[in-house]
Amino acid sequence: MELKKSRRHFIKKSALSIGALSVMPFNSLVASGCSTETKKLGIALVGLGNYSSGQLAPALLETEHCYLSAIVTGTKEKEQQWAKKYNIPKENIYNYENFDVIASNKDIDVVYVVLPNSMHAEFTIRAAKAGKHVICEKPMAISVAECEAMIKACNDNNVKLSIGYRLHFDPYHKRIINLSKENTLGTINYVNADFAFTIGDPTQWRLKKSLAGGGALMDVGVYCIQACRYSFGQEPIALRAQAFNSGNEKFKEVNETITWQMEFPDGKISNSTTSYAMSVNNLFVSAQKGKAQLMPSYGYGGIKGFINDEILEFPKFNQQAAQMDAFALNIKNNTDSIVPGEEGLKDMKVIEAIFKSLEQNGARVLI
Ligand code: NDP
Repeated sequence: MELKKSRRHFIKKSALSIGALSVMPFNSLVASGCSTETKKLGIALVGLGNYSSGQLAPALLETEHCYLSAIVTGTKEKEQQWAKKYNIPKENIYNYENFDVIASNKDIDVVYVVLPNSMHAEFTIRAAKAGKHVICEKPMAISVAECEAMIKACNDNNVKLSIGYRLHFDPYHKRIINLSKENTLGTINYVNADFAFTIGDPTQWRLKKSLAGGGALMDVGVYCIQACRYSFGQEPIALRAQAFNSGNEKFKEVNETITWQMEFPDGKISNSTTSYAMSVNNLFVSAQKGKAQLMPSYGYGGIKGFINDEILEFPKFNQQAAQMDAFALNIKNNTDSIVPGEEGLKDMKVIEAIFKSLEQNGARVLI
């Protein structure tokens, strides 16, 4: 979109020449008549698998501030199917090889990386170098070093980076996040967060170390780390972890089940289980003045829960539409993402500490 490109260049140029403008929010620039921004931002989905086709693309039909403008796929047959279904012009269809030429496509403001975990860093960095803002799916990457490189690439190229942590936009989880912020239940002293499911197809990338980086921990275990961190509103300082394997052939490369306990400041603790061989979906918070629970907790919908006597009930809600609209507004208004790259990096530090503890037979590891 020509308007947006010139806006970005305008802000960049102004920031270099006029110091005051560099801290002026985009809204103020609009108000001062420097530019206008009413159009929806264009999002390119990279990797058209289950999450893109089942959740993100349909959500982009509901979003107010962004729309699906382009696709990047390695599967030829998907090109025409998606073009027809979502009205994508031929020139906005890319593959993993010619991806970098998106730099000159004004219909693309944001690249949304929805690939296997080990490809997140490469495509986030390539998108940043092409001058595009990025949403990267969870887990942010497969190592702390990759997360740091992604944040640096986005900073160096003056683009924003957000992680696909949809639950920060969900009304049930927002209530949990607010418990510590508003001190509703007094000091929170214990959090139990478990997320596990029974995995199917033994040939899928989620069971391959090179593509997934790890098993359930890298996949649904990240939700537990997130939930413990935002329930306490604090960062863990140390942890201990244990791995369990039933001997199932599926789990030759990645862990089947991991449990871990995190220490938070002042002796508060959390306990978590993640697995590809059982079904658990729970967040429990115990505090000085009561308790809260979401169960099931981490789905796209159907969350149930309470805070003491209050049964939580919210109307049907599209987490993905809210998440993408919020990021589009961050870009339009030049504000910070609610879930920036630094959030993904913090979780990856916990994940690396868990693997380190497993290597040391469950020893206490500082984070
Ligand atoms: P899928 O396996 O369904 O899709 C992944 C897609 O990536 C494929 O369809 C393919 O798209 C592309 N791809 C490129 N190279 C490979 C490769 N070597 N092997 C397999 N696929 C490849 O995965 P999901 O959509 O479920 O997950 C994608 C990402 O999204 C993951 O990082 C996952 O953690 C995250 N996710 C997040 C969720 C959330 O709630 N926030 C929910 C589900 C997933 P194409 O054919 O177009 O090239």
